[in-house]
Amino acid sequence: MLSIDLAGKRALVAGVADDAGLGFGIAKALAEAGAEVCVATWPPALGIFETLLRRGKMSDSLRFESREGALSFARVYPLDAEYDSMEDMPAELRENRRYKDLGDVSLAGLAARVQADFGDQALDIVVHSLANGPEVKRPLLETSRKGYLAASSASAYSFVSLVQRLGPLTRPGGSFLALTYIAAERVIPGYGGGMSSAKAALESDTRTLAFEAGRKWGHRVNVISAGPFASRAASAIGFIGTMIDYCRKHTPLPEPIEAREVGTAAAFMLSPLASGITGHTLYVDKGYHAMGAPTDLSAKTDA
Ligand code: NAD
Repeated sequence: MLSIDLAGKRALVAGVADDAGLGFGIAKALAEAGAEVCVATWPPALGIFETLLRRGKMSDSLRFESREGALSFARVYPLDAEYDSMEDMPAELRENRRYKDLGDVSLAGLAARVQADFGDQALDIVVHSLANGPEVKRPLLETSRKGYLAASSASAYSFVSLVQRLGPLTRPGGSFLALTYIAAERVIPGYGGGMSSAKAALESDTRTLAFEAGRKWGHRVNVISAGPFASRAASAIGFIGTMIDYCRKHTPLPEPIEAREVGTAAAFMLSPLASGITGHTLYVDKGYHAMGAPTDLSAKTDA
């Protein structure tokens, strides 16, 4: 029987800080398929995440859906993906109470920890499920240079840096995946602050990284364009409920996307079953990307 089998593979999912996001759905699907899963968590969210895990507050959502067992994390690494090394981090942030006892939380620090824990051939799968746009609520016309560059740094360049640093620690035939949104290619009013630009860069970089990492290490690099989902980050933007409702009404499959659906699609893309796929943007959005007009357009009559 053909099935997704990730037994013996080790995955790192960057951007998991609770059980309500797409990264969590992906981590769970990978573990359910047999992979050992490590996560990397943003320092401001790390304390509460570890407390929830320790107190068993997530035990229901950690439980597998297709078989006995539950997701458990081999490691929870601290990561601030805006910084390639600690020298880049402002002294004030290094001294922040949420950062100061964590050691090197940069991308270089993450690679060093992974290598120290698992050696030179540490990983098979790397997922980038993180984004941040400090001015996301501002239209592009009102976005500052600082806000725009911060969005690109946290949400797009962080993937380039992740592939640069973890590519050499990933066994040949490894697989990288990031998460994007249709705002990269179509206007989504309200998704501002340069986040649409960052997602466009992320999708373009995926193609170039697929070429370079493929030739250099034999790794694959893909991106999933997910439909709107009420994660913590998306809820903070302020209109995710309206967006989900709109998509439910106007997609070929008129229902909201679930994290599990993104997780199982990711498990396929990251598995050897997808060995022929790289540089690809896979839509996991109930078909929303295929639409060119609202479903009720033909029911409307000209005035
Ligand atoms: P989420 O809140 O679960 O995940 C975002 C994560 O990014 C959080 O854990 C946050 O702590 C982390 N993060 C932010 N800045 C960071 C930094 N500097 N360093 C390290 N981690 C940082 O939300 P989500 O919506 O599941 O987002 C996951 C990915 O999916 C993002 O790339 C997002 O843009 C993308 N996406 C989301 C949707 C949606 O509607 N929710 C749709 C398409 C794509």
